[in-house]
Amino acid sequence: MVKNIIEFFRNLPAKKCVECGKEIEEQADCYGNKCDHCMGLHDL
Ligand SMILES: [Zn+2]
Repeated sequence: MVKNIIEFFRNLPAKKCVECGKEIEEQADCYGNKCDHCMGLHDL
């Protein structure tokens, strides 16, 4: 069963930044759908 769960997450499509379309690393904290670069620009 654990193996199936891992497979499930591996098959999920990668999140993409809504600003530049770059793939985003999975993060525990969800600020939105932007990559670190774009989030940095918006935070300034
Ligand atoms: Zn971006």
